Amino acid sequence: MSATPMSTFVIVGAGLAGAKAAETLRAEGFGGRLVLLGDEAERPYERPPLSKAYLRGETDPNSLYVHQDGFYAAHDIELRPSTRVRAIDPSTRELELASGEHIGYQRLLLATGAAPRRLRLPGAELDGVQYLRTRSDADSLASAAARAEHVVVVGTGWIGSEAAASIRQLGRDVTLVGPDTAPLAQVLGPQVAGVYRDLHADHGVRLVLGTRIAGFRGTGQVGAVVTDDGRTIVCDLVLVGAGAVPRAELAEAAGLPVRNGVLANEQLEAVGAADVYAAGDVAAAWHPRYQTYLHVEHWANALHQGPAAARNMLGIPTDYARLPYFYSDQYDLGMEYSGMAVDWDRVVVRGDLASREFIAFWLMDQRVVAGMNANVWDVVEPIQALIRGGWPVDPARLADPDIPLDQVTGERAGAMTTRSTG
Ligand SMILES: Cc1cc2nc3c(=O)[nH]c(=O)nc-3n(C[C@H](O)[C@H](O)[C@H](O)COP(=O)(O)OP(=O)(O)OC[C@H]3O[C@@H](n4cnc5c(N)ncnc54)[C@H](O)[C@@H]3O)c2cc1C
Repeated sequence: MSATPMSTFVIVGAGLAGAKAAETLRAEGFGGRLVLLGDEAERPYERPPLSKAYLRGETDPNSLYVHQDGFYAAHDIELRPSTRVRAIDPSTRELELASGEHIGYQRLLLATGAAPRRLRLPGAELDGVQYLRTRSDADSLASAAARAEHVVVVGTGWIGSEAAASIRQLGRDVTLVGPDTAPLAQVLGPQVAGVYRDLHADHGVRLVLGTRIAGFRGTGQVGAVVTDDGRTIVCDLVLVGAGAVPRAELAEAAGLPVRNGVLANEQLEAVGAADVYAAGDVAAAWHPRYQTYLHVEHWANALHQGPAAARNMLGIPTDYARLPYFYSDQYDLGMEYSGMAVDWDRVVVRGDLASREFIAFWLMDQRVVAGMNANVWDVVEPIQALIRGGWPVDPARLADPDIPLDQVTGERAGAMTTRSTG
């Protein structure tokens, strides 16, 4: 079905992906009715500052918004905050709001994001056990942190590590608990994650690693965290950062295939449902390079998938084939990570891990599969070119800061002619 001036396009989820999709639809000339539905009370905003400057009270709250006040009205985008979608029906091309209202559509974009994974452990319902996803979560965490003395952060992933850093910077006593050997070890591996372990330790965060949480103790209010190796950590506030779960329930209830996200092809069209698209944290889109459905829960993915989905909705074929990319800021260490290293057989470091100024490369069969620049800037392009190129590299040249990154294939490595896919 082609888009006509009479068409109605509906976007469910007024986060970054939804907002950028709406912007792109209008920028590409869509002249029909455009509805952007979101269950939060305000217009779309960016989440990354919520664990960083915003949590520390260092940022102007207005700077969070994706668009200026008035943008949606000016572009004739019917933004409806505080509006939850209860069900979608791809066979009748209709959706139902929690209020009971029905809206018909010609094209639908699911951009419903993700929700924090909740712990189902004894005491998890106690007051003071908090999660972090929305601006109101950040507001309540910030005000609880201002009153707290001992804060336990559960989970050594990105949210846990960043929030632990911010709460520590607010002067609170912080314990970071997780099953890994170091914060972020699951993504970065022990060697590079060691940088984050030392960074947190240097800033006075107590690290309780290699253990899981067995439960929480307290009467009404949390008073302690109990680990499964028998430790009791006294606290008056807990932040749980135990990962996120895609909010794919609308797709699931409509019978669409969901596997760690709404399955979509490389043009972000949902598998098995014509004219339904998925973008951002809710999507698991086929990635031509990796030849798999890729679920990426990062800002850049939402930023770029929203517009790509919008173009496809308009019949402008746009494959989404970007390399995964994310960034993180903790204390004075900023980093950017490109690519995806599920397995690797070698890590090469250019620079010095101890000085926290380096580029780390994850290699498989002499090819760079991921790279992370830490306090080194303007190198994402050459890092991504190495990953995309799939050429064998010479590890010694790769490690040498005097050799430009486009000259690291080396004679020995360059003699190998096979290339990886993509
Ligand atoms: C605290 C925090 C810090 C982060 N920091 C970084 C970072 O440093 N670097 C990085 O790369 N990424 C970071 N991220 C991840 C990044 O913010 C997300 O990848 C991005 O927000 C995803 O955007 P989205 O539009 O797909 O989803 P969301 O931003 O989650 O938006 C989805 C919206 O849909 C709404 N919704 C869901 N279901 C319905 C429904 N049925 N009806 C109506 N509305 C609905 C949700 O309430 C939400 O408002 C961070 C995330 C968090 C939470």
